[in-house]
Amino acid sequence: MVIGDGENQTLDLFLGIGLDKRTAENSIVNSKVTANLTAVIKEAGVVDGCSKSVGNLLYMVATKFPANALIHRRTLLEYIVSLKIKTTAQLDEALKFLANFGPEKFQLSEFEKACGVGVDVSVEEIMSSISQVFQENMKAIMEQRYHINVGNLCGQVRKLQPWSDAKIVKETIDQKLYGLLGERTAADNEKPTKKKKEKPAKVEKTVKITSAPLPVEEVNPYLIFPQPDENVKVHTEIFFSDGTIWAIHNSKEKLDKHLAKTGGKVYTRFPPEPNGYLHIGHAKAMFIDFGLAKERNGSCYLRFDDTNPEAEKKEYIDHIQEIVSWMGWEPFKVTYTSDYFQDLYDLALKLIRRGLAYVDHQTPDEIKEYRENKMNSPWRNRSISESLKMFEEMRLGMIDEGKATLRLKQDMQSDNKNMYDLIAYRIKFTSHPHAGDKWCIYPSYDYAHCIVDSLENVSHSLCTLEFEIRRASYYWLLEALDLYHPYVWEYSRLNISNNVLSKRKLNRLATENLVDGWDDPRLLTLAGLRRRGVSSDAINDFIRGIGITRSDNSMIQLNRLEYHIREDLNKAASRTMVVLHPLKIVITNLAGGAILDLDAKMWPDAQNDDTSSFYKIPFTNTVYIENSDFRTKDSKDYYGLAPGKSVLLRYAFPIKCTEVIYGDDGKSIMEIRAEYDPSKTTKPKGVLHWVAQPSPGVDPLKVEVRLFEKLFLSEDPTELDDKWLSDINPHSKEVIKEAYAVPALANAVLGDKFQFERLGYFAVDKDSAPGKLVFNRTVTLRDSYSKGGSK
Ligand code: ATP
Ligand code: MG
Repeated sequence: MVIGDGENQTLDLFLGIGLDKRTAENSIVNSKVTANLTAVIKEAGVVDGCSKSVGNLLYMVATKFPANALIHRRTLLEYIVSLKIKTTAQLDEALKFLANFGPEKFQLSEFEKACGVGVDVSVEEIMSSISQVFQENMKAIMEQRYHINVGNLCGQVRKLQPWSDAKIVKETIDQKLYGLLGERTAADNEKPTKKKKEKPAKVEKTVKITSAPLPVEEVNPYLIFPQPDENVKVHTEIFFSDGTIWAIHNSKEKLDKHLAKTGGKVYTRFPPEPNGYLHIGHAKAMFIDFGLAKERNGSCYLRFDDTNPEAEKKEYIDHIQEIVSWMGWEPFKVTYTSDYFQDLYDLALKLIRRGLAYVDHQTPDEIKEYRENKMNSPWRNRSISESLKMFEEMRLGMIDEGKATLRLKQDMQSDNKNMYDLIAYRIKFTSHPHAGDKWCIYPSYDYAHCIVDSLENVSHSLCTLEFEIRRASYYWLLEALDLYHPYVWEYSRLNISNNVLSKRKLNRLATENLVDGWDDPRLLTLAGLRRRGVSSDAINDFIRGIGITRSDNSMIQLNRLEYHIREDLNKAASRTMVVLHPLKIVITNLAGGAILDLDAKMWPDAQNDDTSSFYKIPFTNTVYIENSDFRTKDSKDYYGLAPGKSVLLRYAFPIKCTEVIYGDDGKSIMEIRAEYDPSKTTKPKGVLHWVAQPSPGVDPLKVEVRLFEKLFLSEDPTELDDKWLSDINPHSKEVIKEAYAVPALANAVLGDKFQFERLGYFAVDKDSAPGKLVFNRTVTLRDSYSKGGSK
């Protein structure tokens, strides 16, 4: 974290009251918490520091003090500093009490009674209450042994002794359990088999949003979490689509801690793996992650999920950061999973020590086979000390790649294969694009993702539906490590017809030169769309339009995206004229050297007095129209040019074809002779775009134009499995090297977008060089040919 001088002083102030570094740093990021905590420290007179326990209470005051009771804050702080209020339980009661009293009614004696001031619970009193609770629960303790819910026992003791010190209660209970049950056995460390509960009515979690961008109740944990009672664990049951149940399970303490960090704000994260460029599916993910945070005044991290150094590159990191901002999103912070490698490693040691992870030596094939047969690895029950030793050897590079992994001791008998002892760490002698050479063991996605969500105080972890089945392991691991459970919610993955959206597939297309790089305009990468001329507004409008659902992977038709692109470009792109396949027309009744200077509209609704909405086009005796706008045989429903027939050249004059000049083969048309009608009395039905020689004998401006068609022939090329590459449309890109353009277009620069009349919307490509403009067709015009000349 980079902090300035003033922040350094504040950091020292916060560390001085015993806050841990992470809490102190997180507080500084939040200006409200910083202001409150600084004021509280000053008011309490502990600018020079205090004990950690007092500091923690002050932090709680700073983050939770009821706004309507500010007048009592100084009194409360005196109680804390003089150690009359010592525990969080007392402070909680004090806060509740203060919130309900105005200055006149407030009575110190009442206040002291409410929060147990002066009530000193002796260790003997605690012991005696614990004995009573043990007596009452003896049967369950003997049956469940270490699986007994210790939090529940603590709760019962603290009901008997409300002002007892929670830490002493917990430690004493732990000691007493040990005295009663002895060493933990292997069975004690096994995850208890799930009791079959009565199957609750299935909750259908489908949210279809058309205009409002985001699901509301669906993703608000503060609605989902009821106001918890003291010491009662909060259970919120989530139903998987297959009917199994998993419960978010945050103790009040964990929830309070989380809320103290977040101030109750929504925190989300957008977690791309930097193994490729982002695609339009990620635009949906960003819309949800950043959009939810924005809508709720919360914050969204951009977190590079960089656990696999082999596939990841700095180029991708830089690109992702740039394209996120192009899409209009502002990350609250940019972080990397690798920033947490040390924490993740420390937690792995904790897991091993708790008997919940082991070093395994099975090969990938063996792991697969054992998982298929629900069999335990032979290394699963090795001793904790042996696993610790082997894990240390893994870290020190003493074990070869592939010879050892750290595996979670989950549930090999589960119905969910994502509980089959997932791999937490593997050895890779590869340096890391962000963490450098420090590590040769790297955490897996499954291991790292949930932990970092929790460490970053993410309140809502939103991801695509294929992760739903991994929820069980997500929560298993957080529970095993005693970490806060964020609220997880999945939505359907975006698929678009006739294209692929998977970085692995996109990578093949780009690196095997099947397209022109990651930003090829035919790809639905965000870089490709941008290069093609699509704006981020159009992309976000499209995403908003399709809504956020949990209905299974729907295939969205490409033309839905095109609709939003047209809507956007119709407003943004000025009109101009380009002829792709020129056919020469010589106007016989206009003198060779004559140049008529005409006005053409840049916008269809241009007002005549607004000169900035017009551009100049020369009209001479040599003009070009599209080859396809001429036919030798006329017909009724045809509006283009044909022998003896008239058309209107847009913004200019009607012309009538008088003669066709053929080449030596007698078939190919060399040029057309025509007469123009300077009085404009003829009113032909067909209107054509055209480009003239700017002066006699000088060719019009030449530009390169690239036209695109769908990249794959099948609607869903992934259905072809490994033959998907053979489905590439061989005509997906057409390059027209020398199209003719009006002179005004010579000034176009990268970023400019135009409507080439009757041909579509076009954007300047980055391949353009001075004197050599290149245009990409972004999208065709709807109804383009029905209004114009040729049908
Ligand atoms: P890919 O297969 O394209 O690499 P991924 O899921 O591995 O996809 P990540 O970079 O890990 O890609 O994804 C970052 C976030 O974007 C994740 O939350 C993921 O669920 C989401 N995401 C990825 N693809 C899509 C998609 N097609 N539609 C919606 N969200 C997506
Ligand atoms: Mg991925």
